[in-house]
Amino acid sequence: MDVVGVTKGLPVDYQFREDPDPFLLAPWALRAARSRGRRYLESPHPYRSPFQRDRDRILHCAAFRRLSEKTQVFTTEVGDYHRTRLTHTLEVASVARTIGRALRLNEDFIEALALLHDIGHPPFGHTGEKTLNALRASEGGFQHNAQALRIVEKLERRYPDFPGLNLTREVLDGQAYRAEKKKPPCPTTPSPLLEVQVVDAADSISYLSHDADDALEMGLLDLDRLAVLPIWRTAMEQVREKWTDLEEADLRREVIRSLINRQVTESIEVSRERIEASGIDTIEAVARAGILIGPGEGLAEQLAELETFLFQQVYRHPRIIRYRKEVSRWLEELFHFYRDHPDRLPSRYLPILQEEGIGRAVSDWIANQTDRAVRLEYLRLVREGTLSPRTPMEKNYSG
Ligand code: MG
Repeated sequence: MDVVGVTKGLPVDYQFREDPDPFLLAPWALRAARSRGRRYLESPHPYRSPFQRDRDRILHCAAFRRLSEKTQVFTTEVGDYHRTRLTHTLEVASVARTIGRALRLNEDFIEALALLHDIGHPPFGHTGEKTLNALRASEGGFQHNAQALRIVEKLERRYPDFPGLNLTREVLDGQAYRAEKKKPPCPTTPSPLLEVQVVDAADSISYLSHDADDALEMGLLDLDRLAVLPIWRTAMEQVREKWTDLEEADLRREVIRSLINRQVTESIEVSRERIEASGIDTIEAVARAGILIGPGEGLAEQLAELETFLFQQVYRHPRIIRYRKEVSRWLEELFHFYRDHPDRLPSRYLPILQEEGIGRAVSDWIANQTDRAVRLEYLRLVREGTLSPRTPMEKNYSG
C-alpha cells in the first residue's frame, strides 16, 4: 500500500493520517444547533447533541432489539452465517458513517437515521411486508418505512410524558423521505439532506454485497455464476492479481470486501465531485440540488445488473420461495385469527383497536413480532386446536 511519509513496516492502521480538522462540518452539513427540535419540548442534554440523543433513543428501544430476530433475506432455519435485520442495520450505519465523515457531513445524524431505517420491518423480511400489505390492501396497505415512523411516534412506550421516542424533526423527516420516495417524482419536491442520501446509498451498498455473500455461503449461488456480471468479474480479477491461489471461501470474502470498498470509495469520490459541481454553499441549497450522493453512472448500472441477478437467482430461488409461502400462510392465518378474536390481542393494542380499527391493531401487533415469536404463536394455536396444521412439522405440534 502506498502511503506517503509513513514509516515502513508499521501496521496500516498506524499509517492512517487524521484529517487536519475532522470535526469541521461542511457548510452544507446539518448542524445540531440548527435542529428544528422535537414535538414535545425537552431540556437540552449537557453532553449529547440532539442527534446523539436520537441515536441512543433508537438504540435503546424495543423495536430495535427485535431486529436481531428478524429476517433480512434468510431465516435461522437455513443456517447461522447470514445477516439478520440487526446486523444489516449495523453494517449500514458503519458504511454510512464512513461516507458521511469523508464528506464532512453530520455523522451523529447519519448514525441515528441508519439505525432507524429498517426498524419498521415486520417479521420475515419483504415476504412479511408483502403479506401484510395484501392483507391491509383495502385500508391503505402496509409499508415498513412508514411503520418505522409509526413505531417511533406512537407505538414505543419509553417515556411517561409522551408516546414514542420524541425524535428530532430532522430524523423524522429523513425517514419520511424514505417512506414517500417511491411515489412519482415531483419537480417541486425538495431533495433530502445529504446525510439522508448517504444512508440511502449505504443501504444499497450493504444489502447488495451482503446478500450475495450470504447466498454464496448457503450454496444458492457460486462464484462462477456470479462472474457473468462485470462488477463481480472486476472484483475477482483484482483479488486474483493480489493472491493467485486463494481457496474459494477466502476468495469469496476478499471479493465481497473489494466490492464494498469500491462502492464506498467511488461513492465518496463521485459525490464529492458532484457536490463541488453543484455549487451548493449552504444547507438550504441542498434542497434544490437533486440527488448528489451515490456511485457514478457506470457503477450504478453494474449494481443494477447485480440487483436483477440476485432477484432472479436468490430472492426467487425455489428454496426461498418454498419458505416464503409457508411463512406467508402463518402470517395470514394469525392475521385472520386475531382480526376475528380481538379479545386475544395484548391489552396495549386495545387503544389502537378503538381509535384506528382492528386491521391496524392486528397489523401493528404482527409487525412488532420477531420471526421466532410468529412461529411460536402459530404453533401454539395449532397445539390448542385453533388452527389446522398443514406440514409434517406443524402436525407434530398438534394435539
Ligand atoms: Mg435496509
